[in-house]
Amino acid sequence: MKTIIFLIMLTFLAFPTGSDWCYSSPECGPSTWSSTPYCNGTQQSPVNIITSATTVNTSLGSFNFIGYSDASKLSHITNTGEAVIVYMSDGVVINGGGLSGNYTALQFHLHWGNGTSSPGSEHAIDGQRYVMEMHIVHIKQGLSNLEVAKQQKGIAVLSFLIDVDKSNSNSAWDTLSSYLETISLPGSVNRTNFTLSISSLIKQVNTTKYYRYHGSLTTPTCDEAVTWTIFQSPVLVSPNVVNAFASKVFRDNPARTPLVNNYRPTQNLNGRQIQVTQSGSQKAAASVRVSLLGMVLLSLLSYR
Ligand SMILES: [Zn+2]
Repeated sequence: MKTIIFLIMLTFLAFPTGSDWCYSSPECGPSTWSSTPYCNGTQQSPVNIITSATTVNTSLGSFNFIGYSDASKLSHITNTGEAVIVYMSDGVVINGGGLSGNYTALQFHLHWGNGTSSPGSEHAIDGQRYVMEMHIVHIKQGLSNLEVAKQQKGIAVLSFLIDVDKSNSNSAWDTLSSYLETISLPGSVNRTNFTLSISSLIKQVNTTKYYRYHGSLTTPTCDEAVTWTIFQSPVLVSPNVVNAFASKVFRDNPARTPLVNNYRPTQNLNGRQIQVTQSGSQKAAASVRVSLLGMVLLSLLSYR
C-alpha cells in the first residue's frame, strides 16, 4: 500500500499522466508552461550557476546516504514518453547536507539531449551545460502526499551532471543503459532484478562539493518546493551510454520517435543566492589565485 501511495504521489509530483505538457512541440513545449500553475513563479528551476557569484555556507556538511549501496532497493524502470524513471522501494534515505531532517528517495530519472555533441542537462555551470543530468527525487519524511509539494522544503533533489569520457567505460551506467531497449515504448515497465545500486552510478563524485539553492520541480506543475543540490564533479560515462538514451527510447508509438531533448531551459534567478560548500569553494579560490599570480607575472614582464 505504501508503495502504491508513493507511486501515485510521484506520478503527481513529477510526471503527471495524461499530461498536456511536452518537450517536443510548440503547442505544449516549455515556452507554454507558464500558463500552468506555478511555472511562471519567481523561484523556478533549472538555473545557470555563476560560480563567482556563489556564497560559501559552512553549515552545508556531508550527506548520509542510507540504502544507496543496496542493489535490491531499485524496484523497476519505466519510460513515460517524456523521461526514463527508476523507482526505489522503501528504505533509501538521505540526511545531513544542510537538510532539515530525513528525506526518502522515491525515484531517479534522467534528462538528455540528442547524443554526445548535444547538451541535455537542465542546470548549467557558468553557462556550460552537460550531456545529461540525473535527478534523485526525495520527499521529507513525516509529510503527507498533499503537503509535500506545498511546503518550501518538502522535496530534496540531488542532481548529478553527466559528462562523456571516451577513454573509460563505467560499468554501472553500461548496465543501466542496457535496460533501455526493454522499455523502448512509452508506458512500458521492466521489473528486472537490478544488479546495480545508486552508489555504483555516482561513485566517482565527491559528494562534499556541491551547490545549494531553493527552486522548483522542472516539469509542470513546477511547484516551488525543492531544495536543490547540484554536485560539482560530473559523473563520467562512455559515448555509448549517451547515444543509447538518445536512440533506444521512444516518445510515441507506433511512430517510434526517439525521445530526445527532454530538458527545461534555465530560468531566472530573480535575486536568489546560490550557496556552495566550503570545500566546493576551494576550486574557485584556487583559480582566483592562479589568475592573480598570472597578473603579477604579466605586470613583472611588462615592467621589464
Ligand atoms: Zn528532473
